[in-house]
Amino acid sequence: MRDKIAFIGVGNMGNPMAENLHKSGKKITVFDVSKEMMERAEKKGLNTSESIESLINEEVSIVITMLPEGKHSKEIYLGDNGIINKVSKDCLLIDCSTIDIETSKEIGNAADEQNIMMIDAPVSGGVMGAQKATLNIMVGGSKEAFDKALPVLKILGKNIYHAGEIGSGNGAKICNNMALGIAMIAASESLMLAKRLNIDIKKVHEIMRNASGNSWPISVYPPLPGLIDGTPSNNNYRPGFSAGMMNKDLKLAYECAKSVNAETPLGKMALEIYDQFCKEGNDTKDFSAISKVIGGDAWDYPID
Ligand code: NAD
Repeated sequence: MRDKIAFIGVGNMGNPMAENLHKSGKKITVFDVSKEMMERAEKKGLNTSESIESLINEEVSIVITMLPEGKHSKEIYLGDNGIINKVSKDCLLIDCSTIDIETSKEIGNAADEQNIMMIDAPVSGGVMGAQKATLNIMVGGSKEAFDKALPVLKILGKNIYHAGEIGSGNGAKICNNMALGIAMIAASESLMLAKRLNIDIKKVHEIMRNASGNSWPISVYPPLPGLIDGTPSNNNYRPGFSAGMMNKDLKLAYECAKSVNAETPLGKMALEIYDQFCKEGNDTKDFSAISKVIGGDAWDYPID
């Protein structure tokens, strides 16, 4: 009987997502190229498979991928050992990675040619959203594929949106993350300005949370420690969502904007700021560590 979920990529996001599927009673097996991530998954009681070849078999009814970039998704689905040629025709493919729209369409169309249903389903809500199963999930693909995926997506997230045809999930996600990158810089600027003005940052944070300057970085994921428990800024800026990932998403937004002649001056500036930060060796820090750049010599917080 086909009732197994194969989950590929159990990093910061994939790990808690796979764990939630496991806890819900789904038969799930995971694979990751990183030995460390495989060991972490095993410690959480997840079944692991030592290769894609042993992971994908006739019992698999759903494949979920949560990979860093388009090149990884392309390799997994369409590469020499591509799973599109290995799964059963009635298997549903769900790529939750945030990737470029073109690659997403290319993979989706290749699946379509083989009569296999596929959706792009990138998520927002961060590691905490993945842990609490409160992710926002934005789906691109046919209505039929969306409906088929809904029960499993509801285990992973709270708000599930059908954004449009294949690639639209990533389009929506790229728009969202461009705003997020800008908002994280804006939150850093405000809080660091308060610090230089010698106003209690906790007070300013509380005020902004309830006033018109609120944003997701202020209310959920502040870029300075001591404001909200459990955030990467409280954990020496270990990710979370890495600066490298945000840089990737801002690049995706920049390329998208160029392709349709859209003006995104703040998106472009945010990309320049994150790009420089990553070039200085900070790509594995959480993206909220951008407050270090903004704060300059007034920024004096622990960072790994
Ligand atoms: P991550 O780097 O922590 O995890 C990705 C995992 O994929 C890694 O463990 C890596 O070893 C694995 N991987 C890479 N190539 C592989 C392959 N060929 N086969 C198997 N495994 C492979 O990244 P993440 O933070 O979990 O992000 C994953 C995706 O989700 C990204 O596209 C990111 O933009 C998006 N995203 C992340 C967050 C967040 O807060 N971290 C939030 C929303 C969306």
